[in-house]
Order: sequence, then structure tokens, then C-alpha cells
Amino acid sequence: MAKILDGKACAAVVREGVAQRVAALRAQGVHPGLTVVLVGEDPASQVYVRNKDKAAQDAGFRVQTLRLPAGIAQGELEQRVRELGTDASVHGILVQLPLPRGLDATRVVRCIPPHKDVDGLTPPNVAALAMGEPGLFPCTPLGCVEILERHGIPLAGAEVVVIGRSMLVGKPFALLALERHATVTVAHSRTQDLAAVCRRADILVAAVGKPRMVQGDWIKSGAVVLDVGINRRPDGTLCGDVDTEAAMARAGAITPVPGGIGPMTIAMLLSNTVLAAERVAGRESRGARVHGA
Ligand code: NDP
Repeated sequence: MAKILDGKACAAVVREGVAQRVAALRAQGVHPGLTVVLVGEDPASQVYVRNKDKAAQDAGFRVQTLRLPAGIAQGELEQRVRELGTDASVHGILVQLPLPRGLDATRVVRCIPPHKDVDGLTPPNVAALAMGEPGLFPCTPLGCVEILERHGIPLAGAEVVVIGRSMLVGKPFALLALERHATVTVAHSRTQDLAAVCRRADILVAAVGKPRMVQGDWIKSGAVVLDVGINRRPDGTLCGDVDTEAAMARAGAITPVPGGIGPMTIAMLLSNTVLAAERVAGRESRGARVHGA
């Protein structure tokens, strides 16, 4: 029977560490701030934003949700995001996706200064990830790496298969795993014989958005399965992209849905935000030392 990798418990440990770093910054007179931009009334986005707000507040951040109407013009939305970019009290900016129809998310995200881009979606951060340089990287793949590391599951030398190639999950996870010396295969909707590809994986990451698509017999005996998918069943309950019951019989370890990668994603958002604030504070104090010299 597979071991359950408890994302809630793991996230609580990460959040505790973040809260200590926030307290240290506040003691230096810097109050780290996160602003979430929420456009429109999408019910799922409202829930996600509420959860992020609460987690950030609990960790001691200054939190603000900028609520804007679904009918906002592209130019005005971009202007509002640019204004946050120049606001020194805001260290992290997150534009909740997806945006309502008619708005171009790529253009909006590019208005976020890279050092405040706590979702890791601006081109300079994507480039930094691809080049193995410091930056801010997407929270869900960071959460996947963190839960593996905290359970002592090595990526180095592991055969990793990630299903999904989005900019938010699949691609950045592949790059993070590659950076940590895994052998990585990225599968997607055109992959031939997906089951056979998955059976190669020591670590299988499912980030598709199709309820219980990954079958038990796609999983190599003893493999680690990270189920990123969040799908709502007709009765309102959530399930992942993996048939968890069937997978439990073969996998060595598996993340549940809910309570797996979801809480880790929020924890890594907080981690990115405190990192962004620490970098600014570090630059400022170095600047002050130079000026004072
Ligand atoms: P996208 O829709 O952007 O990407 C889905 C990927 O799955 C695409 O690359 C697509 O391939 C691939 N795919 C679709 N159908 C198949 C198939 N039949 N076989 C193989 N691959 C397929 O989704 P996201 O990456 O944004 O999210 C994926 C899932 O993760 C969703 O359920 C989402 O809700 C969840 N999620 C969870 C988070 C969390 O906090 N736990 C955070 C972010 C997302 P192609 O490129 O060829 O179309």
C-alpha cells in the first residue's frame, strides 16, 4: 500500500519557516506585502484567492486583493498592474488566472516587474529557470520539488515523467527536475502510448486536468506519484488526475487530492513572496551601506 505524502502537514512546516522570515523582516522595519489581482467573479478563483489571502495573513504578510470588474479594459488592467509594480509596499504581485474572456493574460503578466513576479511567469523568470539561474519560479512545481525533498525522495538519477506541458506546471517542473539531475520525459495530448511512457517513471507527475485519467496499471511498482490535478466532480467533491485507489496498490508513495500539491502551492507562494521581499531588503541595506561608506 502506498505511503500518503501529506501536503497539508508539509505545507504547515514550510509556512512556519516563512512566518519566521517574515517576522525577521518586520523586525528590520520591512513589512512584506502580497497583492493578488482578481478580475471578475469566477467562483473557483474566488475560493483560491480567499485561501491565499488567509495563508498570507496568517504568516504575517500585508495582504491586499485588488478586485476588478470582468469588463475592465485590457489597457486599464495593465495600468493597474504597472502601478502595483512601482508601489514599494508591494513585494509580490499575483494575477489570478484564468482571466475573463477577452483579456490577454500574457500581456498583463508582462506588466509585473520580474522581482515581484511571485508566480514565476514573466519572461525573465522563465529564462532564469531554463538557464539554471536565480529567479522566482512557479509555485506548483516548486511545491512538487519541496514535498519530494522533505520526504527524502531524490530527483537525481530518477526517471521522471510529467504529463502536461503548461507554463504553470508541466514545463517548469520538467526544468526544476532536470536542474536536479533527473532524466525527464514531458508527455502531453499527442504522446503515443501514454500508459507505456508512464510505466517508465520512478516519479510520475500528473498535471492534466482530467479526472482520474491515470490508471493503476500505468504506474511502475513502487513509483512516487504526484497528483497535481484538481477536478470538481458533479457532486462538488474534488478529485485528482490519478485513480488514487487503484494507484495506491502499486505506488510507493502518492499525494492525495485534496491535501497534496494544493496546500504546497500556497506555501510556495508565501515562500516566493518572502524571498522577493528579502531580496529587496538586502539590496536596500547593501545600498545604504554603500551610501554610508
Ligand atoms: P493546462 O490545461 O494548461 O495543461 C494541461 C496539459 O495536459 C496540456 O499540456 C495538455 O496537452 C495535457 N493533456 C490534456 N489532455 C491530455 C491527455 N489526454 N493525455 C496527455 N496529456 C494531456 O493545465 P494546467 O497545467 O494549468 O493544470 C493542470 C491541472 O493541474 C489542472 O487540473 C489544474 O486544475 C491543476 N492545477 C493544480 C494546482 C494546484 O495547486 N494543485 C495549480 C495549478 C493547476 P497539450 O499541451 O498537448 O494540450
